[in-house]
Amino acid sequence: MSKCRVILSFPPALIELPVTYRLVKDFNLKINIMRARISPKDEGKLVLEVEDGSPEQVEAGLRFLEDQGIRVTRLSKEIKWDQDLCVHCGACTAVCLSQALHMEPPEWELDFDPNKCIVCELCVQACPLQILEASF
Ligand code: SF4
Ligand code: SF4
Repeated sequence: MSKCRVILSFPPALIELPVTYRLVKDFNLKINIMRARISPKDEGKLVLEVEDGSPEQVEAGLRFLEDQGIRVTRLSKEIKWDQDLCVHCGACTAVCLSQALHMEPPEWELDFDPNKCIVCELCVQACPLQILEASF
């Protein structure tokens, strides 16, 4: 089984294309939509987690999207958090739209869920202690 995260950027003309339906039906992939920004006038963006297929199935599905004119960016980085140095100030949570970084009650300490992270890297700049980094 293969799993990857991708950002799909597509022009207004392709907004109506049922991308997730085609990936599920034609390529037998399981799709998890992590983030979507779609506007009829602008470029649309979808962040997807693609899984449940062989590497060949995943590649075939992504190639199909590229053939349609969709730009596919593979997210190969991951965020590393040096938990021991964290002072739990919460500054990074303000920029983390996926809520991968969030304050956890009752102590309100920072918690990081890598499964929600879309590797946008906004938190890397936001941390005053520079203890969040994107690495391959
Ligand atoms: S890179 Fe940082 S800000 Fe972006 S989703 Fe991941 S944890 Fe949140
Ligand atoms: S900004 Fe840095 S120090 Fe503050 S909670 Fe986030 S990781 Fe910890």
